Parts: sequence; C-alpha cells; structure tokens
Amino acid sequence: MRPDKFRKAQKLMKSGKVVSKGLIGSSIYFTVKSNKDRHVIFRVPGQTWICDCEYYVLKGKECSHMIACKMLLKEQEKQELKK
Ligand SMILES: [Zn+2]
Repeated sequence: MRPDKFRKAQKLMKSGKVVSKGLIGSSIYFTVKSNKDRHVIFRVPGQTWICDCEYYVLKGKECSHMIACKMLLKEQEKQELKK
C-alpha cells in the first residue's frame, strides 16, 4: 500500500496546486499551495530536493510537496514529448 503522502501529493498535483516557476540559475523553483504555501527547490546539479515544510525540516525525508513537484515534472516531460 502506498503511504498517505503519495495520495496527498497526487491530490495536490491534480488540483493544480503545484506551480512551477521554472529554471532559475541551476535550480527549478516550485510553489505548492497547501494550507500554507510551501516552497520547493530542485537543485539540478546534485539532483536534490529541498522543501521548507516542517516534515522535511524535522525528518529530512521526502515530503508530499516534493512528490507532487516530481509528478508535475513528469507530466511536463510527457507533454514535451507530445509536441
Ligand atoms: Zn514539504
């Protein structure tokens, strides 16, 4: 069974709450509109994800926001391929 965070991430992504600001420098910036706006950064050179939510800050584990952003990236890649 998939953990709740995947379901939460999917919901966030499908309801359009994940906004990509695109590549700035060597990082991709995202805003996830949750109860509170979360800021997620994907550092392309090291392929690392950073989020400013408590879950990530306290546990250092992949949070639902990161997963939602990953899903969005994948969707965008698929759409690029269709063009
Ligand atoms: Zn987070």
